[in-house]
Amino acid sequence: MNTSTLRIIDALEAVQAAIIVNEADIESLDRAIGDGDHFINVRRGAEVLVAMRDELVPLLPAAAFQKIGMKLLSTIGGASGPLISSCFLAMSKALAGNETPGLRDWASAFAAGVDAIKARGKADVGEKTMLDVLIPVSRQWLALAQAGTPLPALCQRLTDDARAHMLATRDMLATKGRAAFLGERALGHIDPGAKTCQVAITAVCAVLLQPRPQSTSITSTAP
Ligand code: ADP
Ligand code: MG
Repeated sequence: MNTSTLRIIDALEAVQAAIIVNEADIESLDRAIGDGDHFINVRRGAEVLVAMRDELVPLLPAAAFQKIGMKLLSTIGGASGPLISSCFLAMSKALAGNETPGLRDWASAFAAGVDAIKARGKADVGEKTMLDVLIPVSRQWLALAQAGTPLPALCQRLTDDARAHMLATRDMLATKGRAAFLGERALGHIDPGAKTCQVAITAVCAVLLQPRPQSTSITSTAP
């Protein structure tokens, strides 16, 4: 059993729980500037991944991400499905052959995943999408990991940055996705994808701070 894969599974479980806790926020945002399906999309994706636990446990991190990416492609609808899927597939490529990724490896894999979303969505910072959280946080993670920042400080900074960048989408005009059709009416609303990513990053940071994988103690995810 690979401890890094167990940590990935811990992160998936934490992200799923965090998405449920933030249901009201995420739901209302896509109702305000989208078509209202974003929460359902991400909840379904998270549930399906958590249910894959037994399939993921025997895999190395790259193979686990590959399986996750392929699964998301067929389960999450909307614009966010292919985008999030491409992130996991690119992380899989970046971690190929790496059985025990270190903090820098995770950081570069995440940066590669975010680049894949940029390429797939043909979007960049300032367009009021999930990338407004993902791009700066991935860059910050890489910089902090390369500087050898201790884990607690690194996680605190990424959590704070994710929140600040999520909030900053409120004052942006949307130039990609459904919200782009709203023009100035999108002003004053946080982007739902940015909110989901902030929630996910916060949950992953909390898992990174746990001393060792917790999943071994979880016997079942069934109801
Ligand atoms: P849909 O817009 O098809 O209903 P979702 O509601 O699941 O899909 O996802 C909407 C989110 O997807 C937006 O809030 C935004 O963050 C993100 N998004 C939309 N288009 C793009 C894009 N081209 N690049 C990056 N992210 C995007
Ligand atoms: Mg939507």
